[in-house]
Amino acid sequence: MDNCIFCKIAAGTIPSKKVYEDEDLIVFHDINPAAPMHLLVVPREHISTLADCTDRHQALLGKMLLLAPKLAGEHGGGYIDGADGPAGGFKSLLNTGPDGGQEVYHLHLHVMGGPRPWRGQR
Ligand code: 5GP
Ligand code: ZN
Repeated sequence: MDNCIFCKIAAGTIPSKKVYEDEDLIVFHDINPAAPMHLLVVPREHISTLADCTDRHQALLGKMLLLAPKLAGEHGGGYIDGADGPAGGFKSLLNTGPDGGQEVYHLHLHVMGGPRPWRGQR
């Protein structure tokens, strides 16, 4: 899509701090992080919102979600159930439409984690 910032990032015409890519997905750091680790999981295909996904996107959506804990583990938001001490963890967030707080209309999954001193969590 012309004029789509995430299509341009996926195509490499706009730079990003990329941490992962494959034939379906690209993952990069959010430019305005809301947490110590804030990654965006973005499909290469331009899909405007989650509400535009169809059965054809089932595997892609599953792949995006299953990538989240792997990314979190590698970038500071890992979670191991039953681990001793602080287990960490992360948020996975997908905003849809204006009431959902979506600003960029190219599907993306936020993966946020790491210590959050401003919340007094750790
Ligand atoms: P939304 O509100 O659409 O769910 O989230 C869009 C996210 O994209 C925001 O967290 C914003 O900081 C991020 N973002 C917007 N433009 C850029 C950009 O050019 N590069 C990167 N890395 N992130 C961006
Ligand atoms: Zn796009």
